[in-house]
Amino acid sequence: MRVVFLGPPGVGKGTQASIFCRNNDFRHISTGELLRNALELDGEMGQKIRKFMEAGDLVPDDLMLGMIESALVDEQNGVVFDGFPRTEVQARGLDDLLEKRNERVDRVVLLIADEAEVIRRVLARGRSDDTLETVRHRFEVYDASTAPLIEYYRERGTLREVDGMGAISEIQERIHNALMDDGSANGRSAG
Ligand code: ADP
Repeated sequence: MRVVFLGPPGVGKGTQASIFCRNNDFRHISTGELLRNALELDGEMGQKIRKFMEAGDLVPDDLMLGMIESALVDEQNGVVFDGFPRTEVQARGLDDLLEKRNERVDRVVLLIADEAEVIRRVLARGRSDDTLETVRHRFEVYDASTAPLIEYYRERGTLREVDGMGAISEIQERIHNALMDDGSANGRSAG
């Protein structure tokens, strides 16, 4: 099963994706993590990526799609994409990459939380790109570029909305239900 975790910065995608993947023996592909690892290599590419990330801007689509293509090589059971796709170009690119492998995005988990709670979580995390100014900008970028993917996946029948408020374990259970409880891994649920 190929799953996308969608939602605004700080909604808990990374936390929930890690736990879900550990419990279900899925591979966790976090583009935020891949990018932070690429920064450690430094060099010209690292500098370029750093500029986008520290400003809270999106790293260019072609670079992201290349990164995902190399990450797809040997996944096992299932894969959770966390923080990817973030634009419609990335979503179409992912569909194409998966189609070549005779795979598809089977499910999309949309995590939903109050804006105030999400901002609180991001600022508490204290990463170098987690200043109030950058966070505000990341939300604008999310609304403009990533939120349209909600409709993209809803039209394809793969979207599952999950309440992201409450205890980590409660949210985990909701995600588990959204992914494991409604029959076939392809196609729409009956209800
Ligand atoms: P958050 O959960 O707060 O959104 P991430 O670790 O997912 O944090 O992403 C941090 C930054 O990495 C983003 O603000 C963006 O600059 C960059 N980034 C991550 N994923 C992508 C992507 N799919 N496309 C473009 N940029 C990305």
